[in-house]
Amino acid sequence: MGLAVLGRRSPGPSSGVTEAFKADKDSRKINLGVGAYRDGNGKPYVLESVKKAEELLNASKTDKEYLPITGLADFNKRAALLAYGADSVPLNDGAIAVTQSISGTGALRIGGAFLARHYPHSKVIYLPVPSWGNHTPIFRDSGLEVRGYRYFDKKTVGLDFEGLKADLRRSLNLHGYQAAPEQSIVLLHACAHNPTGVDPTQAQWAEISDIVKERQLFPFFDMAYQGFASGDTTRDAFAVRHFVSQGHQIALAQSFAKNMGLYGERVGAFSLVTADPAEKARVDSQLKIVIRPMYSNPPIHGALIANAILGDKALYAQWEGEVKGMADRIISMREKLFGMLTHDLQTPGEWSHIKSQIGMFSFTGLNPAQTKVLAEKAHVYMTADGRISMAGLNAGNIVHFAESVDAAVK
Ligand code: PLP
Repeated sequence: MGLAVLGRRSPGPSSGVTEAFKADKDSRKINLGVGAYRDGNGKPYVLESVKKAEELLNASKTDKEYLPITGLADFNKRAALLAYGADSVPLNDGAIAVTQSISGTGALRIGGAFLARHYPHSKVIYLPVPSWGNHTPIFRDSGLEVRGYRYFDKKTVGLDFEGLKADLRRSLNLHGYQAAPEQSIVLLHACAHNPTGVDPTQAQWAEISDIVKERQLFPFFDMAYQGFASGDTTRDAFAVRHFVSQGHQIALAQSFAKNMGLYGERVGAFSLVTADPAEKARVDSQLKIVIRPMYSNPPIHGALIANAILGDKALYAQWEGEVKGMADRIISMREKLFGMLTHDLQTPGEWSHIKSQIGMFSFTGLNPAQTKVLAEKAHVYMTADGRISMAGLNAGNIVHFAESVDAAVK
């Protein structure tokens, strides 16, 4: 056909896992590759607060008209309030530009395209190594050059904080990663880092904020898991709010896929902290110019659901309880798995990272050969890098999983 499509790799690493899982007929099979929450019975979970919001919407007979280019204005206000908090100075000053987006992916894509066009100082974005697999193509397709900064330490299965600081600080390093020159864009996972489950502590965030300021880097936060990490939406927003309190003008991608279970509804927001309301107005109009040729305007249904929840005291309280319920179930699976490997089975190795990591994902430290054995011998599926979704574990399958891991590493 003459189209230059050869040699492009697609899709992401977890889709192959799901295909292999589907083809496996063994009743003990477990899929730990999916990036969506599963309840205690391994089933997709629709939040009660979401069901109630949908009932309210049906009763109020909302129409299906087009939204404006930047989406549902009330939703945008409430999404920003959730992220930045009621005490946020730029939010209260009317200096944050917000647009609805097609979930977190769309928010990152809008942000990438906006910065590629309007950020005058650099066209390079630094991602943690490793990062969510879609970050690189999203930012490349947005017109930015993608480079990495050190994040994960394979030896400790924890944060490589010294490497991270060095890469954000130094102009040259010896580890193969080119350090970020001043004013580069740096992508930070606000909480529940995907794929590692390793987050900086609050004290480490404060240090990162100082370095970002010192080097005049531009911080772009990806917050796909607010509330889903610790169970507390305020706590999970710490990094974002701390940076803003330190005077950083951040970009922020928000997703409501995980914390409201609205995966397929594609609800998200992109926002940019600007200098003042006049700059905000200019950014608002440039955002429209970026968005209009991409998809004209965003879908309405999911935004109405999220808006109904965020705007109603009782529904909001119910939702907060449900987010905490999901986070707590994941945390309890971490504790159970750690206990089984360390105490019950006395599996060789150090497994405390299973407990200290946060959010849906955990980097187990299992290597590609071990993950292959787990799939072939134990019908347990995960990505080859050893990442598991803790949400895929439940009371019915955790024993089989722990015993299989034990056998694979012995
Ligand atoms: N960012 C991170 C780190 C993610 O893990 C995900 C989803 O897995 C997203 C963004 C975007 O997800 P969505 O587009 O479904 O909101």
